[in-house]
Amino acid sequence: MVQRERQSGMICCSCESSLPLSVVDAQKPFQCPTCHAVVRVPERYKQWLAAVSMLIDIGIAYVFGLEGMRFVVAVVVGFFPVMLTAALFAHRLIPPTLIASRH
Ligand SMILES: [Zn+2]
Repeated sequence: MVQRERQSGMICCSCESSLPLSVVDAQKPFQCPTCHAVVRVPERYKQWLAAVSMLIDIGIAYVFGLEGMRFVVAVVVGFFPVMLTAALFAHRLIPPTLIASRH
């Protein structure tokens, strides 16, 4: 059975082809498999995602009624998994506009 490659929802800023999830790297520049342009997720998108994740993270700790040190620990420990989850949803719902990398 041939499975269709999962799409990332992101579009190459050079050739406008949709990029499969397997080639996308949010942390560093990556190459478009179609036109071989080197593109990357803009810093602003990552900053925005981190800010939204922090708000969700704090919101969850607040909903659970945590206080003092427990609140701080929950926010610190919870930040990474929340951000990974938020990134999964965000990449599909609001895909970043990729920009050409200057290397
Ligand atoms: Zn391309």
